[in-house]
Amino acid sequence: MTSTNDASINSTPASGATSYVLVLNCGSSSLKFAVIDASTGEQPLSGMAERLGSDDAEIVFKQNGAKQTQALTPHTHKSALQALVTYLLGYPALVQSLTAIGHRVVHGGEHFREAILIDSLSQQRIADCSNLAPLHNPANLLGIEAAQEAFPQLPQVAVFDTAFHQQMPDYAYLYPLPYEYYRDLGVRRYGFHGTSCRYVTAEAARLLNKPAAELKLIIAHLGNGASLTAVKHGHSVDTTMGLTPLEGVVHGTRCGSIDPGIIAYLAHRLNKSTDEIDAILWKKSGLLGLSGLSNDCRTIEEAAANGHEQAQLTLEIYAYRLAKAVGELMIPLGRLDALVFTGGIGENSSLIRARTLDWLGFLGLQLDSEANEQCIRGKAGKISQNGHAAAWVIPTNEELMIARDSVALAAAAQGEQA
Ligand code: ADP
Repeated sequence: MTSTNDASINSTPASGATSYVLVLNCGSSSLKFAVIDASTGEQPLSGMAERLGSDDAEIVFKQNGAKQTQALTPHTHKSALQALVTYLLGYPALVQSLTAIGHRVVHGGEHFREAILIDSLSQQRIADCSNLAPLHNPANLLGIEAAQEAFPQLPQVAVFDTAFHQQMPDYAYLYPLPYEYYRDLGVRRYGFHGTSCRYVTAEAARLLNKPAAELKLIIAHLGNGASLTAVKHGHSVDTTMGLTPLEGVVHGTRCGSIDPGIIAYLAHRLNKSTDEIDAILWKKSGLLGLSGLSNDCRTIEEAAANGHEQAQLTLEIYAYRLAKAVGELMIPLGRLDALVFTGGIGENSSLIRARTLDWLGFLGLQLDSEANEQCIRGKAGKISQNGHAAAWVIPTNEELMIARDSVALAAAAQGEQA
């Protein structure tokens, strides 16, 4: 395998040619990547390395409808990134057309309010935020370092999950804890899924034919992690996730908001350490813990349809807590233009959407059942009957948002140099 040092190349794109962005999303045990045309969203290459850190780690490349899978040894992020660079070098024209590399970075703390061009200072600051996201930021930094080694000529851009929420007011982001924990340790609500919210806000403005600055939205990003965000005049004014992505509504394996007294109670009753209880809250709760079946919403819906009572209760709790979160987020908004569903569950589960809207008649939201059934597998549309508020399904595209940010920042940097 070629090392990233060997892979270092000059990547100035030929003028007039299509320019692409390589988008890297290094997770705790995965690496997602895509080469994207930021103006059309076209993806000539995409793929994913999974199960990094375990014996069956592998990387899959998808190009022109074909799939190629390679086992990874060693099973590390670094070897996944080297495999990607080696693969890319087999396509010199594609490499020549890259204009920037965009990195998803999970936690930007209070330092980063928007996407940035990466330099040594910002890289250090991303490392400083690792305390707040110990599984993610170190992996994100590995991606940045590998990409810098392989493509030293290309501008590298960091796009933060937390940045969109940095304009939340202090009364929304502070916890009622001793103030010094915020001042000295950074304990506050940060919020996540910000890149998705930014993309969906822009799409909502386009689809509702109204400038984002005039819109009041609640965006329900429902994937394995789930969050709702109140967006007023294009900014997040409150969101359900907090210091970590554990807070808020029911997640796939995470509990969401619970009485914090439960942690000490369980530690005492089960004779477990707080670390062990923490692991249960992150990995064994949510849809998985409630249903006893799976963290996958499809499996639970199927079981519920077959009469599995625990699965039925799980869906009821999931939708009830979503609706309650919508109610809470109405406080900073005052009025609602649209409740937008996105993410794997939001884009595909007509059942969860219908169950949630069942609670929200008081906001003037009435389900359009036919439209609701049609909005699946990437189809956007309005799923409520005409009224003063509307419910929409809008598929998200975080990679495209990262690509757009990267192109904009790379162009600005080039303008400054000229
Ligand atoms: P991640 O947060 O990991 O990016 P996704 O946004 O892909 O996750 O969402 C994954 C969730 O979407 C899973 O719970 C999966 O069951 C759910 N999902 C995908 N398709 C459907 C469907 N047709 N019906 C219900 N849930 C679905």
